[in-house]
Amino acid sequence: MRKKVIAGNWKMNMNLHQSQKLVSEILNGLGKDSKADVIVCPPFTSLSEVNSLLKSTKIKLGAQNMYYEESGAYTAEISVDMLKSVGCEYVILGHSERRVIFNESDELINKKVKAALVKELKPIFCIGELLEQRESGETMIVITGQIEKGLEGITSDQMKNIIIAYEPVWAIGTGKTATPQQANEVHLFIRELVAKKFSPAVAENLIIQYGGSVKPENSGELLSQKDIDGALVGGACLKADSFLSIIASA
Ligand code: PEP
Repeated sequence: MRKKVIAGNWKMNMNLHQSQKLVSEILNGLGKDSKADVIVCPPFTSLSEVNSLLKSTKIKLGAQNMYYEESGAYTAEISVDMLKSVGCEYVILGHSERRVIFNESDELINKKVKAALVKELKPIFCIGELLEQRESGETMIVITGQIEKGLEGITSDQMKNIIIAYEPVWAIGTGKTATPQQANEVHLFIRELVAKKFSPAVAENLIIQYGGSVKPENSGELLSQKDIDGALVGGACLKADSFLSIIASA
């Protein structure tokens, strides 16, 4: 049985004070018997303080990006060691906003995935098709390419430390959600692809999150699908109430 994993991607929101307030509200509202694992991914500037608030709690900390080099003249970039030193256990990689707005290629994302895994930082590896790709029937081709290139050179053993987030780009921040059936169809396809590329056991244990306008009104049905093991939540994670409702529905 795979445990559900709910992650909140705060994106470029929340200054330090707002971050402390939000995480305190989430901690206050989270029942002790929460069945799902919870990850919060604040902006870099809040990681250290949020980490202090999360000490001895069940909520895990993630970052939203990193660079693959260890150190050096890479102005404004952040290394794996830096993220680990402020308590990060996870890092979101390959988010569609990084791919589309910042032109991140599959090859760059693959370098980041490898660098994270070598130092035991767990990637939440995001994949998903654009609207025109879905409409022209290319969804599975796009997904296959992103997995083949993004996970190139990754071992079956390392796959234990990866979460895949399927996020159809047309559903991110748009209010449009894939139907539970549309989402599950792609999740099943991803699992079968991973079974072929790695092994059936790796695929069976792999957490595949859905992301794209997940909110309390639709999370229960999405999360009840057989191959949907959690959610990567954007907009709805910025309010404690809605994030907590999504967690409770898992
Ligand atoms: C995301 O940024 O990963 C995301 C899914 O955003 P939203 O929930 O706002 O669509």
